[in-house]
Amino acid sequence: MADQNFLDEINKRRTFAIISHPDAGKTTITEKVLLFGKALQTAGTVKGKKSGQAAKSDWMEMERERGISVTTSVMQFPYGDSLVNLLDTPGHEDFSEDTYRTLTAVDSCLMVIDSAKGVEERTIKLMDVTRLRETPIITFMNKLDRDIRDPIELMDEVEDVLKISCAPITWPIGSGKGFRGVYHLYNDEIILYQSGMGHTIQERRVIKGLDSDEASRLLKDDIDDLRESIELVRAASHKFDLEEFLAGQMTPVFFGTALGNFGVDHMLDGLVQWAPAPLGRETDKGTVAATDPSFSGFVFKIQANMDPNHRDRVAFLRVCSGKYEKGMKLRHVRINKDVRISDALTFMAGDRSQVEEAFPGDIIGLHNHGTIQIGDTFSESEMFRFTGIPNFAPELFRRIQLRDPLKAKQLHKGLIQLSEEGAVQVFRPLKNNDLIVGAVGTLQFDVVVHRLKTEYKVEASYEPISVATARWITADSVADLEDFKKKAHDYLALDGGDNLTYIAPNMVNLQLAVEKYPKVRFDKTREH
Ligand code: GDP
Repeated sequence: MADQNFLDEINKRRTFAIISHPDAGKTTITEKVLLFGKALQTAGTVKGKKSGQAAKSDWMEMERERGISVTTSVMQFPYGDSLVNLLDTPGHEDFSEDTYRTLTAVDSCLMVIDSAKGVEERTIKLMDVTRLRETPIITFMNKLDRDIRDPIELMDEVEDVLKISCAPITWPIGSGKGFRGVYHLYNDEIILYQSGMGHTIQERRVIKGLDSDEASRLLKDDIDDLRESIELVRAASHKFDLEEFLAGQMTPVFFGTALGNFGVDHMLDGLVQWAPAPLGRETDKGTVAATDPSFSGFVFKIQANMDPNHRDRVAFLRVCSGKYEKGMKLRHVRINKDVRISDALTFMAGDRSQVEEAFPGDIIGLHNHGTIQIGDTFSESEMFRFTGIPNFAPELFRRIQLRDPLKAKQLHKGLIQLSEEGAVQVFRPLKNNDLIVGAVGTLQFDVVVHRLKTEYKVEASYEPISVATARWITADSVADLEDFKKKAHDYLALDGGDNLTYIAPNMVNLQLAVEKYPKVRFDKTREH
């Protein structure tokens, strides 16, 4: 039986990530969230990004940026009676498979939308990934201090494009220069906006009751319009349903401005009230509940060369059950070896420091000297492996070129190891000796060439190749698979783990192949 203390620790935790399109306001909202968590006294110091546009090819700059961003990889802070873990999802140039895989380590997501733009491409992709686990989604419609699109239209777009129903929790009163605040549909409160207060935590200025005299007095000419539109919104929109939210089918919607630090706290209130406490996870031997007192966790991300002062790699592990205590002995299940963990990292307030204990929903950083791979399970007692930590089909491909042909073996070894670590994916076509590197984000290519040079003493460069997408291939019958291998030979390759993949020169080619070979499965993700 788990003791009450342990259960309380679990129940107060909320582990989430932000999904958004670049420039929708993820960084700004993170700053404000941390401000509420009082992890940072002044917002604005979260990331040193956008400091150099030419940073892409400059490794020092790149490392510096990554060095800074690792301290924000995981941010733990108190909010009310809860303890919140916010996992950073790399965006912009550092967008990578890590971004996708981080979403397997959270229990809910905040979707931030630029209300002037609506649903954008990156958000659609990230929502697809959250669907793998039916993750509950909270929505924040940002930038209400600007002229935005009609809020009803925005919600319709979310419903149509993202296939999730929207339940407005707050409703905006005006926008742009005329942004007055929001009406809370469930608390019957008007919460007033004050501009120019974005760097502080503002006292909430609340008018109780839409029909109150105070509301009439303060909103004067606007009040009739507001009452009318609220009536309309109530009639035309979904009512919030906790079960549907927890099943990933409905999203509560909040309106505000991250820059003006208005509405972020309403959203956080919703998060701690409705988002699930740490959930159990699937393994090859069944579900492990968070309340299981025996420690277990899985690695969802490995970050290399993060901090110039600590040249090691760190494996990020999500605690799934039990309690981590400094110095405890854990089984590294894949290699079937016991390891004593005495120097795991925690990320309270964005600093690297050693953690004494950690609970389900928390992330700890393990020092990795090359033995840990993405998807690895660490467990106190049971010999199971967590499932559902996939590879994602890359979207960018390049052929790698060796400067010194005698180093072919080194290159091969380096690439396979880097692909096991999850830094990149590698494909070897059946028809020739090419080595094709596949990635989700362009920065990964630069990281790989740099690491090949420093860690494997191999100088390599890239050239373009006509591959647009990859799919992992399986079939129920060996005969079907063999037949397919013969017929589609020229488009087939093996990935770093020797799994058969179809590498398509364009989407039309892929489409045709899928239609032509109905007995073969073309998968966009592959489990470790
Ligand atoms: P990210 O790329 O999603 O991390 O977006 P950022 O947080 O860096 O924001 C992108 C730009 O939008 C920055 O210039 C922000 O200052 C601006 N921004 C973010 N939130 C708001 C907002 O609520 N109102 C306005 N007017 N600008 C915002």
